[in-house]
Amino acid sequence: VKEILDTMDYGPAPESAAEALTWLVDQGDRFGHFIDGAFTAPGPGFDSRNPATGEVLATLTQASGEEVNAAVAAARRAQHKWERLGGPGRARYLYAIARLLQKHARLFAVLETLDNGKPIRESRDIDIPLAQRHFYYHAGMAQLMEAELPDRQAIGVCGQIIPWNFPLLMLAWKVAPALAMGNTVVLKPAEYTTLTALLFSDICRQAGLPKGVVNIVTGDGAVGEMIVGHPDIDKIAFTGSTEVGRKIRAATAGSGKALTLELGGKSPYIVFDDADLDSAVEGLVDAIWFNQGQVCCAGSRLLVHEPVAERFHDKLRERMDKLRLGDPLDKCIDVGAVVDPVQLKTISDMVAGNTAGQTYHADVALPEGGCFYPPTLITGLAPSDRLMQEEIFGPVLVSTTFRTPGEAVQLANNTRYGLAATVWTENLNLALDIAPMLAAGVVWVNATNLFDAAAGFGGVRESGFGREGGWEGLSAYTRPKARTKALSPVPPMPEGGGAPA
Ligand code: NAD
Repeated sequence: VKEILDTMDYGPAPESAAEALTWLVDQGDRFGHFIDGAFTAPGPGFDSRNPATGEVLATLTQASGEEVNAAVAAARRAQHKWERLGGPGRARYLYAIARLLQKHARLFAVLETLDNGKPIRESRDIDIPLAQRHFYYHAGMAQLMEAELPDRQAIGVCGQIIPWNFPLLMLAWKVAPALAMGNTVVLKPAEYTTLTALLFSDICRQAGLPKGVVNIVTGDGAVGEMIVGHPDIDKIAFTGSTEVGRKIRAATAGSGKALTLELGGKSPYIVFDDADLDSAVEGLVDAIWFNQGQVCCAGSRLLVHEPVAERFHDKLRERMDKLRLGDPLDKCIDVGAVVDPVQLKTISDMVAGNTAGQTYHADVALPEGGCFYPPTLITGLAPSDRLMQEEIFGPVLVSTTFRTPGEAVQLANNTRYGLAATVWTENLNLALDIAPMLAAGVVWVNATNLFDAAAGFGGVRESGFGREGGWEGLSAYTRPKARTKALSPVPPMPEGGGAPA
């Protein structure tokens, strides 16, 4: 990283990476875990690379069993005192963390983009501000806990495992509500995108958070498995693939651990013939090309009304060719790099292995040396085709047509998932009529990707269960509190028995 910093080979236009790279250099480019309020010495591990260039950014440590035990033990030691601090006491720390996230927003945004490959415009305007918002919101909720949730208490020590698509935001979704309700946490970021979680550890230290309240252990799925199987963890909160979610559900069954799963999706994007087609195209750009399509609730399945299908696809292809793909640090870029060569290969193999329909790749130049994949549209697929059913988790949109609203609903629900859905029409009666029929945790009308810390987000079917955000998200980090009160004074028993006088 020192060499990259010295040559600063990032060209003139992009956002400067100097501050983020300097932070990495200051840390020695090698990281241990954050346990009991301090960084541990780096151990054997793996490299974390910038997917846009292939350059190594840092070396991370693969947590051992002892390190996971130490993190859980630290969280356990801290938990009772943290809970007893009370909502207003915990809120002070959450506000401090939120303010520090705000103060260092630019550093977080650039580090996130370097590590993940997402356009700086997105990390700067969406990921980091939403992460701050989660801490502010949950600070407020912590203050309200005693008054609003008098019959609830913390669950205890929470194991939290998150994916790589919104690294800091997913951390905020997990850590903020858990802490607000009096829990302590052991969190494992995804192996591709650990850096902002480590910077966040530093923020916890700066905020003076009591040691052991937040512990971050790094590594791959094997570390996740250790957390899931740890006997002294009371709740597992997982966001990631349905495949791993299924394993976690099996592993926790019968263990008494509480569990929430936020899993994959294949969300329908329904366009009716009366829709404002230009707006629907823009919405679709956001639905499937935001974050290179690596979004759990991506509108990845276009269902378009037959009378306008051809016109809509033409408009879409025209718009795709105008998408600007390139260096994620460039503020003008719409589409950045895919997170890792492994993910790039998965996407390429899935598209290359498909023989159905017609595939259109946007007419964009792909920079060399990085994990870039062009925005892609596959039309004319049958509902049962593999790519209509399986999550690609990349910048690939699949499309089919429908004739009636009933058929649209049937096609939309023809999936094992149920995370989100979008309906695009000028007829609000129609939208409000079909929205409740869609198997989805959230339905957006003439909009897409609307998130707020105050609104519970989550899925149905194989997209998981439990909600994050809002009251539902908070209650997932609490359990009922039994309160008993002696009836006093106890009336004296009359002499010789019988009913009390
Ligand atoms: P993944 O399931 O491969 O990995 C997620 C996390 O789980 C990582 O930290 C990984 O190291 C860990 N892990 C892997 N194997 C494990 C195991 N056996 N036990 C415990 N932990 C294990 O998912 P990913 O590829 O990182 O993320 C993409 C997936 O996440 C997509 O399917 C996407 O839809 C989903 N996702 C869902 C939401 C949501 O809110 N529903 C949000 C973001 C991403």
